[in-house]
Amino acid sequence: MAEKRDYYEVLGVDKNADAGTIKRAYYQLAKKYHPDANPGDKVAEEKFKEANEAYEVLSDADKRAKYDQFGHAAFDPSMGGGDGGFGGFGGFGDFGDLGDILGGMFGGAFGGGRRRTGPQQGDDIGANVTVTFEEAAFGVKKDISYNRICRCPDCKGSGAAGGTQTETCSVCHGTGQVKRVQRMGGMAFQSASTCEACRGTGKIIKNPCSKCRGSGMVRENKRLTVSIPAGIDNGERIALRGQGCDGKNGGPAGDLIISVSVRKHPVFERNGVTVSCEVPLTVAEATLGAEIDVPTLEGNVKYTIPEGTQHGATFTLRGKGIPYINNPNRRGDLVFRATVEIPKGLTDKQKAAMKAFADSCGETNYTKHKAFFKKIFGQK
Ligand SMILES: [Zn+2]
Ligand SMILES: [Zn+2]
Repeated sequence: MAEKRDYYEVLGVDKNADAGTIKRAYYQLAKKYHPDANPGDKVAEEKFKEANEAYEVLSDADKRAKYDQFGHAAFDPSMGGGDGGFGGFGGFGDFGDLGDILGGMFGGAFGGGRRRTGPQQGDDIGANVTVTFEEAAFGVKKDISYNRICRCPDCKGSGAAGGTQTETCSVCHGTGQVKRVQRMGGMAFQSASTCEACRGTGKIIKNPCSKCRGSGMVRENKRLTVSIPAGIDNGERIALRGQGCDGKNGGPAGDLIISVSVRKHPVFERNGVTVSCEVPLTVAEATLGAEIDVPTLEGNVKYTIPEGTQHGATFTLRGKGIPYINNPNRRGDLVFRATVEIPKGLTDKQKAAMKAFADSCGETNYTKHKAFFKKIFGQK
């Protein structure tokens, strides 16, 4: 290629042009030289690429600053400078908002009614699975059923009845698109739209398959056993590759995306791999210490709490929490919080005993109590 032209010169704008001016200038050129408007015109194609390249740089504040400083060298990998991070210009078809603008002018037909002749990936399908707290912790297999679009089993997706052939559409010659020319302000625009005769498939089916009515695709109800891995958490998703809708024209199938909901547990809460719960203690247990039963995901275990356990004290059972989803041999902890329950409905005899006990207590038995009142009233 000859010496690269200055990007500002390409777009025909001043070096100080603002973003809006650059955009307008580019749209004018892109419209004029768009390959759909100039089929087979190599000069127009070059100009179109050139405008794209210039716009790519000048529409990006960072790139523009680099260009202003270093010129083309800023983006030439062989010069060693700049980021050299692009070079994919001129890929026709990807026009972003330009496509929208031109599309609006031509009733959506600009640059492509949808072509349906090539391979298309099948759609993804979403499904929900609800599991119990324990199932989420240790994993479970769940049977699910869902509807998906799949290749017709009778015609193997061709749409033609058993053994018959499809024919290439004579209207669009198999391209799935028809081109038409529109005139605007002295310029001719060629636009493409989906071929009506074959609905964009490029094929005409003389003898359509009765099961799928020629579409090649049918709806089916699919049953599947899904392994929910140990350690999964509420709201997490599992993707099963290729279990979504079948693709068309040899395209790959979509995925089945399963969202997992975990039911609340009456006792346990979960935070990541840590399981927590509260364990109520009697005053005597908390005061004297005791061997108590602590619930875990695998049943109760004995745990000895020490003498003088305070309300709200927490204790940790290592490795009794949730397995790590990536490493099920490793588990989080179970943390339980001791709550002290104050007895109610005492008999007179019990009250007298409590009173006698209270009278026997001194300051050393209640260090917090003592410190608190010292803070308020000062040292006596
Ligand atoms: Zn069929
Ligand atoms: Zn056609």
